[in-house]
Amino acid sequence: MAHQAKKRFGQNFLTDKNLLEKIVRLSKIKSLHVIEIGPGQGALTSFLARDAKDVIAYEIDYSLKKYLDPLENKFDNLNIVYEDFMKIELDIKEVSHIVANVPYYITTPIIFKFLETENIQTATMMIQKEVADRLNATPNQKAYNSLSVLIQYYTKIEKLMQVNRHMFHPAPNVDSIVIRMEKRTDRLLDENEEKKFIDFVKRSFTQKRKTLVNNLSTYPNVIKQDIINYLNDLGYDERIRAEQLTIDDFIKLSKGWTL
Ligand code: SAM
Repeated sequence: MAHQAKKRFGQNFLTDKNLLEKIVRLSKIKSLHVIEIGPGQGALTSFLARDAKDVIAYEIDYSLKKYLDPLENKFDNLNIVYEDFMKIELDIKEVSHIVANVPYYITTPIIFKFLETENIQTATMMIQKEVADRLNATPNQKAYNSLSVLIQYYTKIEKLMQVNRHMFHPAPNVDSIVIRMEKRTDRLLDENEEKKFIDFVKRSFTQKRKTLVNNLSTYPNVIKQDIINYLNDLGYDERIRAEQLTIDDFIKLSKGWTL
């Protein structure tokens, strides 16, 4: 019996071979180690296994095994693991690359897992257009938020192509974009400073309509006037909002933050 796509697992399958070939080519994974999230019925997986050095693919839905078994038999370099990608502890020994048509309901957590996992150098992902707009947004744009700042600090991000919703079965309610993120090796902050930076950026955007001073007041035991003085000393107006700040502003402000 044909597989009934499961909405709760974000199952929207691709079949167009030209599109799949293009994603694999632009992901630049030839002869490299690849991690796929959600192989589904294996549409992307077979092209990845053909080109990569090896592929490990994590699939939450065991009922897709009937589609994936023949591929695992065909390709010696393919290993399918039937587990929830968000629950596994990744310990990546060799530099690896994510390629995935990701389930939309966990796009952001997957991006954070990519950022936090050592030795995953790039991620080529099909994501909903709205999230792609956020990732690429610049100050004063509506979509600009903490995710935009963090992703642009950690990675160099490229939009590879737009994909119409009708390329999927079943068609989702949104159009998609394939992006490729490559971790920067020239990051300006050390590990401790980065922890401070992440917290600072997230707090700065707690409520987008509020001023930076008000959002930073969520730090425990800080005095509002001290925040105002700190901003003024660094040359910022006390009415400034997070959405007006560039990544360099956030780096400067979080680095000196001791309140
Ligand atoms: N790669 C296939 C394709 O392009 O046709 C399927 C893509 S579909 C958008 C997302 C896939 O991710 C589904 O096969 C779904 O079962 C799987 N999935 C959903 N949540 C997952 C999770 N937490 N861990 C691993 N796989 C997951």
